[in-house]
Amino acid sequence: MAPSSERLFDSLGHFGRLQACVYFASVFQAMSCGIHYLASVFMAVTPNFVCGIHGNVSNILFYNSSESSIEDIWTLWTSTENYIVVQLENGEIWELNQCSRSKREVGLDLAYEYKGNKSIYSCSDGFLYDDTKWKSTVVTQWDLVCDREWLAKLIQPTFMLGVLIGAVIFGDIADRLGRQRVIWFTSAGQFLFGIAVAFTYDYYSFVIVRFLLAMVSSGYLVVAFVYVTEFVGIKARTWASMHVHAFFAMGIMVVALVGFLVRTWWVYQIFLSVATLPFILCCWMLPETPFWLLSEKRYEDAQKVVDIMARWNKVTTPCKVSELYSVQQDDPVRDRTGDNGTSSRKKHNILDLFCNWHIARRTITVWLIWFTGSLGYYVFSLSSVSLGGNEYLNLFLIGAVELPCYIIACIGMDKLGRRNTLIPFLILSALICVLIMFIPQDFSILIILANMAGKFSIGVAFGLIYLYTAELYPTIVRSLAVGSGSMMCRVGSVVAPFCVYLRSVWIFMPLLLVGIMALLSGILTIMLPETLGKPLTNTLVEATEMGRNGKSCSGKTPPGQSAPPRQRTPSSPAPLLRPSRKSDSSSSPGASLLWLCTLEMAAPKVAVVGAGVVGLSTALCIVETFPSCSVTVLSDQFSPNTTSNVAAGILIPHTYPGTPIHVQKQWFKETFTYLFALSNSNEASEAGVHLVSGWQIFKNTPTPKEELPFWSDVVLGFRPMSEAELQKFPQHQFGQAFTTLKCECPPYLLWLEKRLKANGVQMYTRKVADLWELHSEYNIIVNCTGIGAHQLVGDEKLLPVRGQVLKVHAPWVKNFIRDGDGLTYIYPGIHSVTLGGTREQEKWSLSPDPGTTKDIFDRCCSLEPSLWGAQNIEVKVGLRPSRWCVRLERQVLSRGGVKLPVVHNYGHGAGGFSVHRGTAKEAARLVGECIAALQGSSSRAKL
Ligand SMILES: Cc1cc2nc3c(=O)[nH]c(=O)nc-3n(C[C@H](O)[C@H](O)[C@H](O)COP(=O)(O)OP(=O)(O)OC[C@H]3O[C@@H](n4cnc5c(N)ncnc54)[C@H](O)[C@@H]3O)c2cc1C
Repeated sequence: MAPSSERLFDSLGHFGRLQACVYFASVFQAMSCGIHYLASVFMAVTPNFVCGIHGNVSNILFYNSSESSIEDIWTLWTSTENYIVVQLENGEIWELNQCSRSKREVGLDLAYEYKGNKSIYSCSDGFLYDDTKWKSTVVTQWDLVCDREWLAKLIQPTFMLGVLIGAVIFGDIADRLGRQRVIWFTSAGQFLFGIAVAFTYDYYSFVIVRFLLAMVSSGYLVVAFVYVTEFVGIKARTWASMHVHAFFAMGIMVVALVGFLVRTWWVYQIFLSVATLPFILCCWMLPETPFWLLSEKRYEDAQKVVDIMARWNKVTTPCKVSELYSVQQDDPVRDRTGDNGTSSRKKHNILDLFCNWHIARRTITVWLIWFTGSLGYYVFSLSSVSLGGNEYLNLFLIGAVELPCYIIACIGMDKLGRRNTLIPFLILSALICVLIMFIPQDFSILIILANMAGKFSIGVAFGLIYLYTAELYPTIVRSLAVGSGSMMCRVGSVVAPFCVYLRSVWIFMPLLLVGIMALLSGILTIMLPETLGKPLTNTLVEATEMGRNGKSCSGKTPPGQSAPPRQRTPSSPAPLLRPSRKSDSSSSPGASLLWLCTLEMAAPKVAVVGAGVVGLSTALCIVETFPSCSVTVLSDQFSPNTTSNVAAGILIPHTYPGTPIHVQKQWFKETFTYLFALSNSNEASEAGVHLVSGWQIFKNTPTPKEELPFWSDVVLGFRPMSEAELQKFPQHQFGQAFTTLKCECPPYLLWLEKRLKANGVQMYTRKVADLWELHSEYNIIVNCTGIGAHQLVGDEKLLPVRGQVLKVHAPWVKNFIRDGDGLTYIYPGIHSVTLGGTREQEKWSLSPDPGTTKDIFDRCCSLEPSLWGAQNIEVKVGLRPSRWCVRLERQVLSRGGVKLPVVHNYGHGAGGFSVHRGTAKEAARLVGECIAALQGSSSRAKL
C-alpha cells in the first residue's frame, strides 16, 4: 500500500494548502511540549534560604555587613555554607543556617564569629527564602529543602517517567484508534493538566498532575510527529518533520521568556499552559490521516479526507482511493503474509519491532541512537550550565542553538541522505568528547565552544532520528516505533544525571561514556537502510524488504524459483513461466553476473507504465526474472481499452527497418516458442491462444524476401502453396502456406493480468504525465506506453498508423488468408474472425469510418466469398505505435543531480503481438542492468 499511498501526494500535492494548515496547527501545539518539559527549570528552582525564626528581628549581621532587613543580605549571599546572625527585639541572638538554627547562650555583643556555647534547634518555624528573583516556587511553597530536598529532586524524574510511559502508551493507542483522536485527547489534556498543576494544593497532587501532564505531552509529541509525517508528501517531508523539533525548541525559548516576566510559580504555570490555547480551540477540525485510514481499510473515510485535501489544494480531479487498493485486495502476497485484511486489524505490539532479524537489528540500532542522542544532549547541556551569565538568556540560547541543528540536519538529510548525515554527526560528537579531554582546564572559552559544538552535533543526530525512525518502520507500527524510540530517549535523559555524577569518579567519565556510545551508534548506523526518496512502507514485509541485504535474499531465494510471495498457481504451465537459465544466459552473456547483482540489491521497486500486450508481458518477464523486485503496472487504460485489444493478434512479424533482422527473428522466435507452449497447455483456452493454419498470397511474383521471409523457419510447416491450393485465389499468382499462432486479444491480456496478480504485481489506473513524477516511489521505470510515448517522452519518431478492423461472426472460416501486402486479411479466432484492414499513416482519429468498413468487408469477401454470410459486425479502430525501430533501450534521466533509470520498450508498430515476449525479455534484461547499476552506486555510497 505504501507506494500507492504516496501517490496521494502526487495527485493532491505534497504540501498543499490543507497540509500547510494541518502542519502549522500541529507543530504550534508541539511548542507546548517544549514548554512543559522545561517548565520545572524555573518552577522548581531552589532559591537561597535559611532557617526561619519566630519573633521580631532588630538586627541582622552577615560577616561585616549589618542590615535591618533580610532581603538586603541575599545580595551578599555567596554559599550554602554561610549563616546569618540575627538579633531579636527580646535580645536573643541566633545563627540561622540553611537547615538548622542555633541560639547563642552568651551573646551580648553582636559579632559574626562566636566561640561560646550554642543550643542547636531544627527549623521548626519554616524557612526564610530569597525572593528577589522568584516570589515563589514549588520549593518555597512546600518547603522542599533540607530533609525534604529529595522531593524537589524527584520532580523532574517523575515528569520524565510520565514522558516515558506516555510515549509508549499513546504511540500504541494512535496505531489502534487513529492519530486524530490521540491528537485531540493529548492536546486537550495538556491544557487541562497544565492549568490543574497551577491549582494543586500539596506536593503530592502537584507531582501526580505533572505526571499526567508529562504523559499527554509526550503522547502528543510522538503522535503529532507521525501525524505530520503522514500528511505531508515525500517532497516536503524532511523539512516538515524536522521543524517539529524547531517548534519544541521554541517552547524552551518561551519558558525562558515567561520565566523572565512572571516570578510566581503558579501564575507562570498558567501563562505557560495558555500559550497554545488557540490550538485547543481548533484542533477538533484536524482530519485523520489517509495513511492510517487506508491501513485500517476504511476506504470511504480515506476518500473523504482525500476529497477535502483536493478541495483545499484546488485539485479538480482527486485520485480515487478505490484505485489504490482494488488490486491489492486479491494480492496473494498480502493474503499470505497477513499484512492486510485480517492483519491490518491485528493489534500490533512492541514485539513486532523484533518480528524478524532485519527488523530486530534495526530496532536495536535505532534505540541505541535515541538513547545516545538523549544522553549526549543532556550531558552537554548540563555541562553548559557553567557558562555563567544570565540564566534566562542561557536557557533562551540553549533553545536557540537547536534551530541551526535542524537546518543543518535538513540540508544533510536531503542532500546526503538520512543515514549518511547521521553517521558523521554521531562520530563527530564522539570525536568532540575526546577533544574536550585534551583541552587544558584553564582554556575555558575553548571548552565552552567545544561543549556547544558537541551539543550541536548530537543535536543534529538527535533531531534526525525522529524522521529516520518514522521512515524505517511501516505504517502499522510507525507510531509504536517512534514511541518506543522516544522511550529509549527518556531512559537516556533519566540516566544522564547519574552519568554526570560519575564526574566524581573521573572528571571526564561522562564524556567518555557519551563518546563510546556515539561511536558505537555511528558504526551500527552503517547497517541501516537509506530511506531518502523512498516511499513510506505500510507492512512489515515491505519494511523488511527495504533493509534486506543480498545475503539473506540470495541465501533463501534461488533465481528461477519463486520466493514464497510469488508462488504460482498449481495449474500454471511450469516450463512457460519459469525463467530458463539457459535461455537467459544465451540472450545475455552477463546474465549470471546480473543475477548476483540483482539478488544483492534490496527489493528494487519497478514501475511498468502501460498495460497493453507489451507492458503486461514486460512486467511478467521482470517479475519472473527478478522475483525479489516489487513490480507495479501503472496505466491510464487496461483491457479492453488498449490498442492491443483491437489487434488481430496473429503471429506474423512486421519488419522494422531500423532493427537488425537477426534481432527481430530472435524476438519472434522467443514469442512463438512461449505461445506455442501455452497453446499446448491446459491454459490455452483461458489465454485464448491457438494454432491457426492458412495462406499468405501474392498477386505478383514475390520478391526473394517475400519468397522466404526471415521468420519462415520459426512458424510451422512453411511451404509454397500448391497449384491446387492457389485455385482458391484466382487473382493471385503465388502463395505460402504455414501454421502460426493467434492470440485472442482480450482473453490473452486478461490471462497476463491474472499471472501478474499471482506473482504479486500490483496494478493501478493512473495516467503518467511525466516519468519524473514516479521517481520518488520507484527505483526503475519501464516505459511501455505504445503510441502514448509520443506525448509522454516527446518521441517525434513515433507516429500512429491508424488501423480499422471488423470483428465478425463466421465460425465456418477456419484458415487465415493474408494478402501479400498485408492490407487485406482474414484471421479466424476462437470467438470471431478479424477482417482487415487499413494503414493510415499519422492519422490519430479513433472513430470508425463507415466507408472504410464497407471497403474492408468487400475486399475480404472477394478473398473469402463465404463471408457475405457473416453476422454481428463490430468495427474497431486502433493506432499502431509505428517507429523506424522498436525503442528498446536503457536511459538514465537526470534532473537536479537525481538520476532516474528508465527502460523504454515501445514502438512495435503492426507487429506487437508477434514479438511481445521477445522484447519483454530484452526489457527485463535491461532492467537487470539498471538494478546492477543501482547496486553499484549504493555500494560506492557505502564506501
Ligand atoms: C488494427 C490493428 C491490428 C493489429 N494486428 C496485429 C496482429 O495481428 N499481430 C501483431 O503482431 N500486431 C498487430 N497489431 C499491432 C499491435 O496491436 C501493437 O503493436 C501492439 O498492440 C502494441 O502494444 P503496446 O502494448 O505497445 O501498446 P498499447 O496496446 O497501445 O498499450 C499502451 C498502454 O500504455 C498506456 N499508456 C499510454 N500512455 C500512457 C500514459 N501517459 N500514462 C499511463 N499509461 C499510458 C495505454 O493506456 C495502454 O495501456 C495490430 C494493430 C492494429 C491497430
